[in-house]
Amino acid sequence: MTALGELMREPGPHGRFGEYGGRFVPESLVPACEELEVAFAEAWSDPGFRDELGSLLSSYGGRPTPVTECRRLSERLGIRLLLKREDLNHTGSHKLNNVIGQALLARRMGKSRLLAETGAGQHGVATATAAALFGMECDVYMGAVDVARQELNVFRMRLLGARVHAVDSGSRTLKDAINEALREWVATVETTHYCLGSVMGPHPYPYLVRELQRVVGDEAREQCRKVLQADPDFVVACVGGGSNAAGTFAGFVDTGARLIGVEAAGGAAMAHGVPGVVHGMRSKFLQDEAGQILEAESISAGLDYPGVGPEHAQLGDAGRAEYVQAGDEEVLAAFSLLAETEGIIPALESAHGLAWIVREAGRVIPTGSSVMLTLSGRGDKDVALVMERSR
Ligand SMILES: *Cc1c(COP(=O)(O)O)cnc(C)c1O
Repeated sequence: MTALGELMREPGPHGRFGEYGGRFVPESLVPACEELEVAFAEAWSDPGFRDELGSLLSSYGGRPTPVTECRRLSERLGIRLLLKREDLNHTGSHKLNNVIGQALLARRMGKSRLLAETGAGQHGVATATAAALFGMECDVYMGAVDVARQELNVFRMRLLGARVHAVDSGSRTLKDAINEALREWVATVETTHYCLGSVMGPHPYPYLVRELQRVVGDEAREQCRKVLQADPDFVVACVGGGSNAAGTFAGFVDTGARLIGVEAAGGAAMAHGVPGVVHGMRSKFLQDEAGQILEAESISAGLDYPGVGPEHAQLGDAGRAEYVQAGDEEVLAAFSLLAETEGIIPALESAHGLAWIVREAGRVIPTGSSVMLTLSGRGDKDVALVMERSR
């Protein structure tokens, strides 16, 4: 097992996070992954690249996002609750941090087109936004079922100038869209960068996306120290593929904070997943007895991925992070609670983190503890669904 001090650094040979990660792709994609690995390593050690990224994230994206202390809710729960406000980013979530970084990287590699997969459409919208900003072409692959379910995001992507392709294979959802995007990348790799949306897929993506999201954790750590004069006792984030959690945890992995990843009960790959190789990586996936990948089911489409990023599998096995679950009903209650007590409507994904905190305050979380939750996104996109559910 990996020693604790080695966690959340650069991955080992072949992009390994302990026994997870790696690069399981067709021969034809190996050069593209290698090119990306080299380009990212160069860019990430180039202060010019970091400066340009930092100034775009600030002048276009709105960074740094604040940390907000929740006074009324803290009092109610008997803890000190701070929120890292990724909901205040342009396009309404942490996803912009990743896509702006990858679009800059694509330009540096001389690529003129971005390719993306999307489930609920949020990563597709973010990628289409970055493509518009950089004057790049953009093609988004989306399962046909999701295209029908997420009409509004499909229209948004088209408004931003992207082409949206409905994928008709398999279960016609996110996992099929990822397969199709990888296939399309093979065919167009000369001109095209594949802008992957979470800490998953073949090396270098899990590492690259974590590094692009670590701005969340790095900022939060400094901001928490200002407010608390200490590191928080608990650091909490929701986990779909795991990018907002990985970025958050990266800032706190060497502190004494307990790191908690909250999965949707119907998509809990850390709790119920089995090791396997899917989408170019070895990680934990929800599978049936025959090894078929199962569909994840959750009220929040952003947590519907049936797997989890490989670094989370490593952090879990090493015992550095703990992975817990929240169910739809308690998530809906947490959604309303934050709106009523703090005037903040959270994304349903982020409400999973809050649901766990509400359930465990005074139990797993001792009274008086300080807790930092990454609020990964805003809830405007979820208001219609919550209205339907409350009828
Ligand atoms: C996409 C999304 C998530 C899930 O993705 P991660 O890679 O696990 O962070 C969580 N919250 C919001 C608001 C999202 O848009």
